[in-house]
Amino acid sequence: MKKIIQLLICLTSIVIPVAANGIKESSTPQIGCAIYKFDDTFMSGVRNSILNAVEGKAKITIVDSENNQAKQNEDVELFIKLGIDCMILNPVDRAAAGVEIDKAKASQIPIVFVNRQPFVDDMEKWDKVYYVGARAKESGIMSAQILADYWKTHPEADRNNDGILQYVLLKGEPGHQDAEQRSEASTEYLKKDGIKIQKLAEDTAMWDQVKAQEKMASFLASFGNGIEAVIANNDDMALGAIEALKADGYFSNNKYMPVIGVDATAPALQALQEGTLLGTVLNDAHNQANAAVNIALLLAKNEKIDSVSIGYEMEGHYVWIPYQKVTQKNYKNFLE
Ligand code: BGC
Ligand code: CA
Repeated sequence: MKKIIQLLICLTSIVIPVAANGIKESSTPQIGCAIYKFDDTFMSGVRNSILNAVEGKAKITIVDSENNQAKQNEDVELFIKLGIDCMILNPVDRAAAGVEIDKAKASQIPIVFVNRQPFVDDMEKWDKVYYVGARAKESGIMSAQILADYWKTHPEADRNNDGILQYVLLKGEPGHQDAEQRSEASTEYLKKDGIKIQKLAEDTAMWDQVKAQEKMASFLASFGNGIEAVIANNDDMALGAIEALKADGYFSNNKYMPVIGVDATAPALQALQEGTLLGTVLNDAHNQANAAVNIALLLAKNEKIDSVSIGYEMEGHYVWIPYQKVTQKNYKNFLE
């Protein structure tokens, strides 16, 4: 008898959880979300906004792909095994999105990609695939406009008086659409605007503040006062550059360097307030996350997706959230 009871307890403890999981709560959609790495300032903002947007509307599992595409492939397989209804993916390597799409399609689980744009050919592999992001080129142009305004109104910025803007470029991760297009669009804009420019140095700091500080320190060691501006593909790198500049005596005793970034993260707004960062461009984490979640919820319920149902303008399977210039004039509007 004791044995039978023990067996029964054992069985029920196995059976009950299986039954609880097995009954699909059809009213609560399940979303699986993988972020390329948690240790990224901008993506942390997107992640928090995703959590807020999902609250009360779906169950979400968010995982850190630890900057490792192989790890993310496993994350995707886990989501598929769990039988979730939709995925929100921020690829580690955007060239690997095609493989993720193949896996999702085979198990009929739709995907909304964010921040790292899959190639067009991959996007076209299946109709249940969407992308929410921002037009990288636009941010390059806006940051260049901020620098151009400064250059034109501050003749002393041309330290060596040669009529040419000597600058250094801190690039994001090579191959990332934002790194490539921001770099290209900002310099193209300056040229089109009639500003003579000369790139003294360019290097990738992989979106990272500490790496950018090191690179900037070495630019300063090589070019010293010859540098007249710093263009950084994101705020973390701009802030790293500012640290290196401070260590070299800048931002005190009238020694100034125009530094521009992209994102408008909280620490960047603080730097604007302190007068170290010249300007940045809002990369709208809140609206990118909201749009992605709205699409994911509709996909999970197999409902119609269009500009009206998601509340954001769509262009085919893409949603482009606009950037905004952030300078001394308007940064206060963006403080939380
Ligand atoms: C942001 C960067 C971020 C990167 C991550 C970019 O859009 O500007 O700050 O590191 O996305 O993929
Ligand atoms: Ca010059």
